[in-house]
Amino acid sequence: MPRHIVCLTFDFDTESGFIARGWDSPTPLSRGEFGVMASGRILKTLKDRNLPSTWFVPGFTIESHAAASAAVVEGGHEVAHHSWAHVPPALQSRDEEAEDMARANEAIVKLTGKKARGYRSPSWDLSENTIELLIAEGMEYDSSLMGSDYIPTWARRGDKFKLGETITYGDNTNLVEMPITWSLDDFPHFEFIRTPDVTLPGLQSARHVMDSWWDEFLYMQKSVEWGILTYTMHPYVIGRGYRMLALEGLLDKLAEAGAIFMTMEDAAREARDHI
Ligand SMILES: [Zn+2]
Repeated sequence: MPRHIVCLTFDFDTESGFIARGWDSPTPLSRGEFGVMASGRILKTLKDRNLPSTWFVPGFTIESHAAASAAVVEGGHEVAHHSWAHVPPALQSRDEEAEDMARANEAIVKLTGKKARGYRSPSWDLSENTIELLIAEGMEYDSSLMGSDYIPTWARRGDKFKLGETITYGDNTNLVEMPITWSLDDFPHFEFIRTPDVTLPGLQSARHVMDSWWDEFLYMQKSVEWGILTYTMHPYVIGRGYRMLALEGLLDKLAEAGAIFMTMEDAAREARDHI
């Protein structure tokens, strides 16, 4: 019996990513703030369809936007770890990363009554310490790496590489790695970014993006008997009206096509038998 799982994941960053990047004048901050309002319409869309999902919520959002964060829990969705301040681990010392990780998990315990089972790194940039710290923190899965697509892997520790030499993979851990990719993330498709160094055009047609996301599901159906497809969205990005309309269309098509919607926590547990 084929089984094609879809994980809908929302990185509930609000203003945190903008502050972490130093884009902290009023308009960039308001761009993140829009996520607070948009989270309500996303929760409604999910509720109307009875769909589970996973929200990676920074401690910053939990403590700055308590009511919006509580609504995620009330909707029955999984709350997972996404740092406290949205600083990428690759930019932190080991101690800074460990402190931030513990602080964010305390916020999650206060919100949900239990520690996070899963983690996704801010801006998808792990440090060489992250996997070990996640294991010490009692996590079951990470969702930050791009080395696979439909079949999760075991997260590794201690890969060895050097310019001009071959790479040697380190040991598998017991942490499930739930693969992701920028192509299934709303941010690069839609967000217009202009800085002194770079302009990212974004602002693509929502229907075109959803067509690509739908094709990814079709290819999973065609190529594996069992698999998980993970979509990554941000309330302040996907929550704009025309994008919501396109997303709703995709969700309805996926449901009709037999997609099994699961939280990442549940999907990661099931994945242990398929790695
Ligand atoms: Zn984020």
